[in-house]
Amino acid sequence: MATSSRLVTSLRRISTPRVAPSFQRFRFRPANQIRWITAASSEPHQPDADGTVKGAPAPAKTIAFTSEKYDVQRDSKYAQLSEDHVKYFQELLGSESAVVDGVSKDATEDIEPFNSDWMRKYRGHTKLVLKPQTKEEVSKILKYCNDNMLAVVPQGGNTGLVGGSVPVFDEIVINLQKMNKIRSFDDVSGVLVADAGVILEVADNFLAEHNAIFPLDLGAKGSCQIGGNVSTNAGGLRLLRYGSLHGNVLGIEAVLPDGRIIEDLSKLRKNNTGYDLKQLFIGGEGTIGIITGVSILCPQRSPAVNVAYFALESYEQVQKAFKEAKGQLSEILSAFELMDGRTQRIVHDVTGKKMPLDGDHPFYVLIETSGSNADHDSEKLQAFLEHVMETEIVSDGVLAQDQTQIQELWSCREGVTECLGHWGGTYKYDLSIPIAEMYQVVNDLRDRLTEAGLLGKEDSPVIDVVGYGHMGDANIHLNIPVRGYDKKIEKLLEPWVFEWVQKRNGSISAEHGLGISKKPFIGYSRTETMLGLMRQIKDTYDPNGIMNPYKYI
Ligand SMILES: Cc1cc2nc3c(=O)[nH]c(=O)nc-3n(C[C@H](O)[C@H](O)[C@H](O)COP(=O)(O)OP(=O)(O)OC[C@H]3O[C@@H](n4cnc5c(N)ncnc54)[C@H](O)[C@@H]3O)c2cc1C
Repeated sequence: MATSSRLVTSLRRISTPRVAPSFQRFRFRPANQIRWITAASSEPHQPDADGTVKGAPAPAKTIAFTSEKYDVQRDSKYAQLSEDHVKYFQELLGSESAVVDGVSKDATEDIEPFNSDWMRKYRGHTKLVLKPQTKEEVSKILKYCNDNMLAVVPQGGNTGLVGGSVPVFDEIVINLQKMNKIRSFDDVSGVLVADAGVILEVADNFLAEHNAIFPLDLGAKGSCQIGGNVSTNAGGLRLLRYGSLHGNVLGIEAVLPDGRIIEDLSKLRKNNTGYDLKQLFIGGEGTIGIITGVSILCPQRSPAVNVAYFALESYEQVQKAFKEAKGQLSEILSAFELMDGRTQRIVHDVTGKKMPLDGDHPFYVLIETSGSNADHDSEKLQAFLEHVMETEIVSDGVLAQDQTQIQELWSCREGVTECLGHWGGTYKYDLSIPIAEMYQVVNDLRDRLTEAGLLGKEDSPVIDVVGYGHMGDANIHLNIPVRGYDKKIEKLLEPWVFEWVQKRNGSISAEHGLGISKKPFIGYSRTETMLGLMRQIKDTYDPNGIMNPYKYI
């Protein structure tokens, strides 16, 4: 890893290590390790490192049921679960831990974490969770469900942000956590083959031992699974450098609703033999089958990594910094992440951590470079830093000196998502917008909520309107932390946000997918013809509609 000991005097301030070495990275516990305990409250809650919920409120009891929040009725074509069904699954999966049975007995407490999401936004009514260990088990489960008209929800790490991974009614949860083996890694081609249930961070740590890197990184890496990542076509922090999963995933192994297994763990980069079916599973959100294995191209891990964190005084300066970074850092630029001043203040207020820079600034940017030659990278970075300081594009900044500080700076970005949930809830919009206008949506929405009297006072229901995200990919996360989910606020948000984005030819979901929350609004980003084709695809793969119903399209 490179350091910047050769920075010019005017930039020494930038390179001064002002960050505390005792960094602790935010992690999400796998859903089944979180235990929601006592009675109702609207108090903030987050599980601590042990998975215990602070302050003793019982989020599970306070989360409204998705079925009540959204205008959706249980489809009567699906069968009701019976004890006979459960018996079949118990015999099939054998071990007791593979079946969480709330049909023949009360298992509310054990099932609740699979029924609800970490944002306290979505909550289902499932009474059965299955944890298969092999693709054959998945195949038998799906075939049985298909034959008996039992609806299912595939579930990975349950870190998704659009309500895709939890049931709406009584769909059976098929959780992939027991399919967690790394199958092979070829350090010449860089192809990793792994079970879908491998945790992203586990895969990346494994690859680190082989001098390689997973081509995707995101704040939920400690809990999300690579099958979930592929199913959501997650973008994350490295897309700028390594591109999307549509390019990096070389093959998948997936089980169709009728039990057929698609065996396509290809290790080939080139294969022009017909339609590329795996692409439908990438971003398919569990609506056409269950991914059980993935083969993926993993780049070499860069030995020289630098991370800098800047303060900037306007969004115009942010755009200039991005242009300069692309021009001057070009092939070594691996991340360009934007955080507005409000998100950084929230991270400070919620965690109490000392921020890398003093004072309040309207914008902050985190830049990462990754290259193979430390001297070469430092030289380039030095020239870039000199330029952005001298031309006053950047007003202040720090450059990490070691791995601890790199992680510390990253935590200012990666910690945002979790901190925003501190007050009770967050409305989240994950938007692709042409860069020139990207931040304007935050200002416009803030004005709108302030004018409506919902924001601006000590006890206002809306805490703030903030923007952060993957500037390098023209992807902003428009977030509205609130004291509680409230129809009054929602009426001002939707469809206003989607109309705003549509007018700029943006996308209403850049990387988080559709789930249940964006399903009604897909028409803002796709034409009727495209929607028709999507429905045909769904009907071809899943004619009985048992896969993740009520969501997506
Ligand atoms: C702190 C934080 C930061 C995040 N940052 C990012 C980010 O930068 N970029 C980004 O894109 N997302 C981000 N996310 C969202 C989330 O982590 C991703 O969507 C992730 O890819 C979901 O993986 P998962 O295993 O948790 O899937 P889940 O949440 O369990 O499931 C997501 C969807 O995929 C389906 N699914 C899961 N596994 C399978 C499978 N094996 N086969 C078929 N379908 C399946 C589910 O049915 C559901 O529809 C973030 C989330 C958090 C909490």
